[in-house]
Amino acid sequence: MSRFWSAVTHTLTPYVPGEQPKLDNLVKLNTNESPYPPSPRVTEAFHENIPNQLQLYPDPQSTALTQAIADYYGVDSSNVFVGNGSDEVLAHIFHALLKHDLPILFPDITYSFYPVYCRLYQIAYTAVPLTEDFEIRVDDYMRPNGGIIFPNPNAPTGCPVKLADVIRLLQANPDSVVVIDEAYVDFGAESAVGLIKQYPQLLVVHTFSKSRGLAGLRVGYAIGDSELIAGLTRVKDSFNSYPLDKLAQIGATASIQDKDYFDETRTLIMQTREKLIADMTALGFAVLPSAANFIFARHPQHDGETLTAKLRERSIIVRHFRNPARIAPFMRITVGTDEQCHTLISALTDILQSNT
Ligand SMILES: *Cc1c(COP(=O)(O)O)cnc(C)c1O
Repeated sequence: MSRFWSAVTHTLTPYVPGEQPKLDNLVKLNTNESPYPPSPRVTEAFHENIPNQLQLYPDPQSTALTQAIADYYGVDSSNVFVGNGSDEVLAHIFHALLKHDLPILFPDITYSFYPVYCRLYQIAYTAVPLTEDFEIRVDDYMRPNGGIIFPNPNAPTGCPVKLADVIRLLQANPDSVVVIDEAYVDFGAESAVGLIKQYPQLLVVHTFSKSRGLAGLRVGYAIGDSELIAGLTRVKDSFNSYPLDKLAQIGATASIQDKDYFDETRTLIMQTREKLIADMTALGFAVLPSAANFIFARHPQHDGETLTAKLRERSIIVRHFRNPARIAPFMRITVGTDEQCHTLISALTDILQSNT
């Protein structure tokens, strides 16, 4: 608290990211990064393009990257907005498109950055409870609202929403923006990108951080009708003209052009996930259906916080959420390599045995 803070600063509750411990030999399964490095074309592109250009500002429009993303999805470059991580893209979306008179809607259990942005930009919201099975039921969102946002698959549950349900929601909700945060869509859910031409109120958000192994580069993007994109650009150009540095633009462009590597690594992660779910289930865990690069699991006899602490003693880091109480029994575990998941399963086997 300081008398120099503005009024809004006093009201903020900042987002707390999962930790990045500075220890070697950790099995780090807590922040949904890829266990694989980015496409080798990314580092090649750095070597070829970077020297002797850093005295100049980067392209403020990220033209080459925007075009590469547009080409990948078969849309126009006027349908693409890029930012410094999808977190920044989301911040501009809240500011530019979700601040109206009526409260916006998002799930009660979801990406915990959404309520943080609402406080920052002073946007009223209503948290819509997930079903008993931790699913998003789109019918619960068919009511007056200032906008709707949810991740598909949802975080931290991993549960996907069917494209047919997204379409039903868009049909029932033509007059406010519907944002689908597809941070994890490449691991098995159905993308809504193909719907943007039909539904001008739809905005789809993606990131290079998860399925492209580039969390360290900070690149995300939104795809939607050009009027939505123009609104985002107005806010961005009133905030930071150069959100993407030259490395980010070069690296992300090289990444999106390497479809083979992308498909290879995300397929590996999906295969490891299925094996991990089977192994966890065999240990007695209940695992929610996941279409993401993480699983959400609880054990009927052992609480999530204790298991998380015991794994930590063995240098395995997973994520535990104390709130809301409904998810306190769970651990959120990022799908690592086969070897990392094997280490996790051995540790859990050991922990469960020594407890009975
Ligand atoms: C990881 C994540 C993001 C943020 O990704 P960045 O591009 O790294 O900022 C956005 N939404 C959800 C649901 C996420 O899990």
